[in-house]
Amino acid sequence: MMKKISFYFFIFSAKQFSNLFWKKIYNIPLPDLRCGKGEPMASTLPMEKKKKRILLADPDEQLIKQIKKSKGATPYLFETAKTGFECLAKLDSFKPDLLLVELMLPQIHGMEILRKIKTDPRTNHMGVMMTSAHAMSQNYRSALILNCDNFLEKPFETGQLFSLFRLFFKNELHPDPFSGKESSIEGKHCYLPKMHSPNSYIKFWGTRGSNPVSGPEYIRFGGNTCCLEIRHGQDLIIVDAGTGIRSFGTVLSESKPKEIHLLMSHTHWDHLAGFPFFSPIYEPNCTINIWTPIGFERTTRELFTEILAHSYFPVRLDDIQANLVFKDIHESVPFQIGHIEINTHYSYHPGATVCFKFKINKLKFGYTTDNEFLMGYHGNPNLIGKNHPLLHPYQSMIEFFKDCDFLIHEAQYTPIEYQKKVGWGHSSVNNAAVLLKHTEVPEWIVTHHDPIHNDNDMLKKLQLQFDVLDDMHLKCRPRFAYDGMTIPL
Ligand SMILES: [Zn+2]
Ligand SMILES: [Zn+2]
Repeated sequence: MMKKISFYFFIFSAKQFSNLFWKKIYNIPLPDLRCGKGEPMASTLPMEKKKKRILLADPDEQLIKQIKKSKGATPYLFETAKTGFECLAKLDSFKPDLLLVELMLPQIHGMEILRKIKTDPRTNHMGVMMTSAHAMSQNYRSALILNCDNFLEKPFETGQLFSLFRLFFKNELHPDPFSGKESSIEGKHCYLPKMHSPNSYIKFWGTRGSNPVSGPEYIRFGGNTCCLEIRHGQDLIIVDAGTGIRSFGTVLSESKPKEIHLLMSHTHWDHLAGFPFFSPIYEPNCTINIWTPIGFERTTRELFTEILAHSYFPVRLDDIQANLVFKDIHESVPFQIGHIEINTHYSYHPGATVCFKFKINKLKFGYTTDNEFLMGYHGNPNLIGKNHPLLHPYQSMIEFFKDCDFLIHEAQYTPIEYQKKVGWGHSSVNNAAVLLKHTEVPEWIVTHHDPIHNDNDMLKKLQLQFDVLDDMHLKCRPRFAYDGMTIPL
């Protein structure tokens, strides 16, 4: 009887002392951990007495279940904790011989629990195994400095875990060297998605409308006028010969191209001014097919002859070494260049101007640099429903772009600017958004930027564009094209 009383007294005193220590920090009663690697002190059932006690402190219920159900689990008595506070409480009530603790244990970090256990002389003989999916050398080193018995990287096999348990209870467990591996499943294998072909893309060489601009306030979006490169394997199409075509020509000449197709939406200066500076026109072995919509006052050849007259430029059309072939674009009559299918629709712009639709494999996209949609309308774009009379003249254009994956379309003017620019052949942000709404095209790339809009103005205009689309509850997200922008196809 006396023996029993003194035993309980010993338990009580140690517990009180320990509680004072832990309570100071966590405000809860904390462990009396004197059992360590020896026999458990607080077991009541004879069978449990023989079993080694392991506390599994990990929020991963799946993992805990797996460990407890595992074949090697029989010699052990497990208790579990999902949080730091629960872990500390179970250390007190369960009195484990060994703690398996997740590094990022909720509420109290695993490293803090390890530090408390290993720096307290009353508990430092208790085994602590740290486990984590974050096998960083800093974590590993910190745990070892705090005398962690082993640092096991997740994910692990339960068999591996139980062999570590066995080593611990034979006093033979030592920390493994830090592996430095990034993932025990994938190893060093680096996932990459199915890559776009580097030979299939569009590139904007010029995105400015009306006239080129330069200067520090135009650095972000660039100042060259319209020119688009469409590349699909061996097939190359250039749309428009604005000033952007000059730098493209310099790059292109290096590969000594044999044949080039230049599609002109129309022949206003901002789409033509770069042509005399397009270096492939001086390559004798290069054929340049120049496709233009018919319906101008002159034939395209006559028009090019005029702009290359000595009064304007030192090289005349007849002096150009490349073989120039002039071809007509008939509106809405599809044609094909290599593997690229092309169709056109008139733009709402002075003269015979067309917009394009390109089809490459299954991908379709539209390109419209000059298009005054809903001419003269300044009202709320939400009011232009599907059957609104103002929309009737534009129905065929809506149908034309309807199946596109993305649409490159101008929105040159803010609504305020447009009030003074009706009939200039360009759309307001609001009216262009109505076209996007009715075509249901999911992506809008804006080009043909107004030369008066510097970089700051452009950013404000982009925000305006988002605001208009939000107001219209459109999911379509706009992007502003810039000189050099490349989009893989
Ligand atoms: Zn233009
Ligand atoms: Zn124009």
